[in-house]
Amino acid sequence: MANNDSIAGRIRFTPMLPAEASGNGMEPQLCRDRLRAAQRLRSASLRPASSPRPDRTGQQSAAGAAALRHSALAAPIYKLPTIQELEFEWESEIDRGSRDYIKWVQRSLNQLLGLNLAADGISGTMTRSAVRSFQTRYGLAVDGIVGPQTEAALIRAGASQPPGASPSLPVPYTPWQSPAPSLPDSSAPASKLSGEHWVQQFPTSKSTDSLAEPFRSKVNRFLDALGRAGANIEITATRRPAERAWLMHYAWMIAEEGLSPAAVPPHPNIDIQWVHTDASGNVDLAASRAAAEDMVRGYKLQYEPALDSLHIDGRAIDMTISWIGNLRIRDGKGALVTIASTPRTGSDNRELHGVGATYGVAKLLSDPPHWSDTGH
Ligand SMILES: [Zn+2]
Repeated sequence: MANNDSIAGRIRFTPMLPAEASGNGMEPQLCRDRLRAAQRLRSASLRPASSPRPDRTGQQSAAGAAALRHSALAAPIYKLPTIQELEFEWESEIDRGSRDYIKWVQRSLNQLLGLNLAADGISGTMTRSAVRSFQTRYGLAVDGIVGPQTEAALIRAGASQPPGASPSLPVPYTPWQSPAPSLPDSSAPASKLSGEHWVQQFPTSKSTDSLAEPFRSKVNRFLDALGRAGANIEITATRRPAERAWLMHYAWMIAEEGLSPAAVPPHPNIDIQWVHTDASGNVDLAASRAAAEDMVRGYKLQYEPALDSLHIDGRAIDMTISWIGNLRIRDGKGALVTIASTPRTGSDNRELHGVGATYGVAKLLSDPPHWSDTGH
């Protein structure tokens, strides 16, 4: 989006970063899940921008590349290991291209997703589609290919060991950790002083595992249907820790709304120092504000974040959905729906919103990536 500073430019949908480019704890693209936020956006855009906004142009092309990659339906189910995966590969004798291995993948997917794939050891469209469903559900990169991370996630979800595995396979990837309140001493940042390093603290989950029931099951069923229909799905946020929402909110208030850093109320779990001082120990308001602005940039905030988002309760998901041609998808009642209308995006296709609703996953129209249990 070249014109970030016009009202239209900033309300318009901006594509997400691909998951692999945003795994650094930063917010890929915060959704706007309250009407009030849109109003705030309007008033904010009327004054001169006090800080540079992140350039979205690079994100757009990155998202486009990710969509192309994810739509490569002809891709094989196995792949060569990346350099990071080589050490892991070294320890095992797993041949991910073997029929035995693909049979194991098919049996595992049947078991874990309740599917009825033929365990024939042939990586066909249905198998790859099921792999994508599984990857989506577990917050993995969605490419329809079983590599070490997807394999580890299958095992962690309850699959048996794959053929050729050594008895105690390491598990290299954990998409989500316990949603229990974080304690300050277990994840203490480098400095109590506010600043961009806080953005890595209290990360937002991208796994549907972190969602609250019954919304979690509804989302998983909808994602399964989308995956089987061949849609490209990129989940950018599910549950957001309340601590993260609190940090975002007050960073915004100091940086953009003129709140005094000394006026922020204390938080029981967050030992952050918003007030910066100079060499003489006097309050340095400019440094305090600059640190809050760094956080606003690090979180990629474009509007005031709500303190009471449904994401905090695990009742909302942000995702981009796209497809090519007609989308033939089962709705929540099992009926096959053919969506020929455009645009072919989850943000704007009203027919897809209708299908989502049959699963109990409701679209908030004013907020491009945001779906929730109530539509708010
Ligand atoms: Zn959202």
